[in-house]
Amino acid sequence: MKIMKFGGTSVGKPERMFQVADLITRDQEPKIVVLSALSGTTNALVAIGDAMSGGDKQKASELIESLHAHYKTFIEGLLKTEVLQKKANTIINEHFDFLRIILKISFNDALNKDILAQGELMSTKLFCCYLEEKGLDHHLLPALDFMSIDANDEPQVPSIKSKITNALEQHPAKKLYITQGYICRNAKGEVDNLKRGGSDYSASLIAAAVNASVCEIWTDIDGMHNNDPRIVHSTRPVEHLSFDEAAELAYFGAKILHPASIWPAQHYNIPVKLLNTMEPEAKGTIILKDAERDGVKAVAAKDGIVMLKIKSSRMLLAYGFLRKIFEVFEKYRTSIDMITTSEVAVSVTIDNTTYLDQIAKELQPLGELEIINQQTIVSVVGNKLTQNSNLMMRLFDALNNIPVNMVSYGGSLHNVSILVPTTLKNDTLKALNKGLFGLD
Ligand code: ADP
Ligand code: ASP
Ligand code: MG
Repeated sequence: MKIMKFGGTSVGKPERMFQVADLITRDQEPKIVVLSALSGTTNALVAIGDAMSGGDKQKASELIESLHAHYKTFIEGLLKTEVLQKKANTIINEHFDFLRIILKISFNDALNKDILAQGELMSTKLFCCYLEEKGLDHHLLPALDFMSIDANDEPQVPSIKSKITNALEQHPAKKLYITQGYICRNAKGEVDNLKRGGSDYSASLIAAAVNASVCEIWTDIDGMHNNDPRIVHSTRPVEHLSFDEAAELAYFGAKILHPASIWPAQHYNIPVKLLNTMEPEAKGTIILKDAERDGVKAVAAKDGIVMLKIKSSRMLLAYGFLRKIFEVFEKYRTSIDMITTSEVAVSVTIDNTTYLDQIAKELQPLGELEIINQQTIVSVVGNKLTQNSNLMMRLFDALNNIPVNMVSYGGSLHNVSILVPTTLKNDTLKALNKGLFGLD
């Protein structure tokens, strides 16, 4: 069994869906195809939810109508026969009627998650209409029947495995299953999701659950590039990565992969391929257990970081000081990304600021607290980085004019991270492209 996941742009136009159908029928291996919402849809659904939570029903209603119009046009481009166009419109109308009903009832968080789920529900059903028109045998596997998160919002592969096995057993003769990325059920049984960009995570979880031969992530670029192509001009694809390297890049901001999407594949040792729907013959990136060579592979940047600096009120760091600090973060389930210590101070970074006020209040009695907002972690990722004696020299040479607030070196064999003000992120990435990769 093979998993093929197609992102928003890969299904965002009728012609792209035609291409997806070609790609999934190129070989005979049974497959589960995981689809995202059409590009732009989840953003539109977020905007609808925001308008409703802000009490602006008029705006929400306008957004719903304009999204509906987009889908009607999409169906005209996707399907040729009147019968299937009619069928697709009936399906889509039901989803938009649901959104219109939500407009009339009182808004809450659970309802918002129902709104966000509509994108993947619609894209998969539309794609199935197209497969039906082409006479391609398939079965739609509802993700809400098997994809779940526990009370801590964590997906558990064994439980997903038993549910998906059950679902697959009901249709044993099928070779092609279509399912939704991103959406799931939470511990209360409500509709929930795996956070933005979560379809990659769905694909990897499904791959782990069915022990797939490969998990292919099809997107709009030919693999993981050595730097962020949205910011730096001359980037190039990286052909091989280890799970550790890919996980660090995903976690530290390489948008091509959801931050958590590597661990299921890594834990169950399933190869992951990053491929380009628009350029299917390009090599892309293959992610396997071991790195194929040592050294730097890529850099990535993660915004929205807050630095907290706690200066001990005593001259030297008393033992137990670090424990007290960490306990505060643990209490508020806020994970720390970077940490540096000196004789009298500890600096940490966090990206989840939900409980920042409460955390600050509890840290204040422990020492002098300084909070520095709008920071970016820039991570240099590769294999056995700390064994490369001149890496730090090249790194700081490249960053000649950039003030660095924190450095994390030695904590991981795969990552050296620096913290810079977000205003200097682009300059930092460009400088590293030149200094570490010799690219402009
Ligand atoms: P999809 O909708 O297929 O999930 P995404 O937009 O989530 O696609 O991810 C693909 C995008 O990630 C690319 O178009 C690219 O702009 C961005 N990206 C950021 N960093 C990298 C990187 N290091 N390598 C490749 N793509 C990256
Ligand atoms: N549609 C969701 C999003 O835009 C999930 C995904 O595309 O991976 O975030
Ligand atoms: Mg994505």
